[in-house]
Amino acid sequence: MLQLVDVGKQSIEAYLNLVGQETIAELKELARPLAGLRLAHINATPYGGGVSELLRSIVPLEQNLGIRAEWRVISGDEKFFNVTKRFHNALQGQVCSFTKEEEETYLVYNIRNARLLEDEYDAIIIHDPQPAALRAFSKTFFPHKNINTKWIWRCHIDTSQPCPDYWRFLKDYITDYDAVIFTMANFVPPDFKHENIIFIPPAIDPLSPKNLPLSDDLAQNILDWIGIYPDELFITQVSRFDPWKDPFGVIDVYRLVQKEFPHIHLALVGSMALDDPEGWEIYEKIMAEDLKDPRIHVFTNLIGVSNIEVNAFQHLAQVVIQKSIREGFGLVVSESLWKGTPVVAGKTGGIPMQLQDGGGFLVTSVPECAERVIYLLSNPEEAKFIGQQGKEGVRKNFLITRLLRDELRCLLSLTG
Ligand code: UDP
Repeated sequence: MLQLVDVGKQSIEAYLNLVGQETIAELKELARPLAGLRLAHINATPYGGGVSELLRSIVPLEQNLGIRAEWRVISGDEKFFNVTKRFHNALQGQVCSFTKEEEETYLVYNIRNARLLEDEYDAIIIHDPQPAALRAFSKTFFPHKNINTKWIWRCHIDTSQPCPDYWRFLKDYITDYDAVIFTMANFVPPDFKHENIIFIPPAIDPLSPKNLPLSDDLAQNILDWIGIYPDELFITQVSRFDPWKDPFGVIDVYRLVQKEFPHIHLALVGSMALDDPEGWEIYEKIMAEDLKDPRIHVFTNLIGVSNIEVNAFQHLAQVVIQKSIREGFGLVVSESLWKGTPVVAGKTGGIPMQLQDGGGFLVTSVPECAERVIYLLSNPEEAKFIGQQGKEGVRKNFLITRLLRDELRCLLSLTG
């Protein structure tokens, strides 16, 4: 069997005060015909990154609404995840050439995992490229099982300009899915034709420990514990250590901001994901910067900086930066806005839609980013107002209940 991820329990009623009776009633109504549906979400990692964040929140809610939802992860090792990270980068537009060896590795691990997909489901949602070939091999190994199963490929990354070699290969495996979900219309690769393309942006869970309301005092206590003290002004970026998140650009921004605000600190908070070996190389380079400058602080999940600490950083930072160069969605933007903290972020992928109701500034370069951060630091009252506007935007469009509604509609349309 593919490894099952234990998700705990959550009740849809718990969201009543946040989203209102009408939304809860709509979700229950939508889910009624889906009661008993056997649904598997399959991805590559149980922790680290936005997809695991989403699944951890949405699966218990689907279960609570009567769906027999499960979250399972494929297994792989460094060799496989090196290849799938190359896929990730190439599909986001990095120019690279696809080798025969990579193709072989990708297929061998997908074949192995397809053999482990023994249970029967009514619907299977495959997240991202890592397990995308499971459908094809599952049909080969278990021709009599999953005969009526609806297969959905859920793409979380920006595939608007994929590197042709990788995309050509992957496209063959996803064309036969019953539906393909992208975050936004822009992300559909130019030559991809499919009769059932659906657009669903991700969302944050306001009741997860990462997003629960914290008082200023409690947030400060949490940060004291890890060495960020109350008299310290700080800006932060919370992201996997990934070239697309531009952590070195953030350090350059900090150096420019420091010219105006000499006492500013920078907290780079990064998590290591099981399926992201590249993170280690970048982490080492960032640590070298950290050692040179006592005002740069680097934190990771490896030293216990996890959900509640991320919450405290996003709550207390004067400004959150998300200097992405490419971005699928960037959950961290909505997470920060939900705490009323203004965000200065790269104008790319799913970020602009999160800032459309206010909340911060979109930027395309290091100097522009630094200028906007300095502006917000220099105008704290306005920064507060901008942050609050962003929070209302998230309430309207980017809470987990909206995501749940869109997924339920998708399942209904496929399974009747
Ligand atoms: N995250 C975290 N700790 C870290 C860095 C990131 O918990 O040190 C979380 C972050 O809060 C967010 C997710 O990982 O929930 C990242 O999702 P996002 O969509 O921003 O980016 P992805 O990693 O999926 O590209």
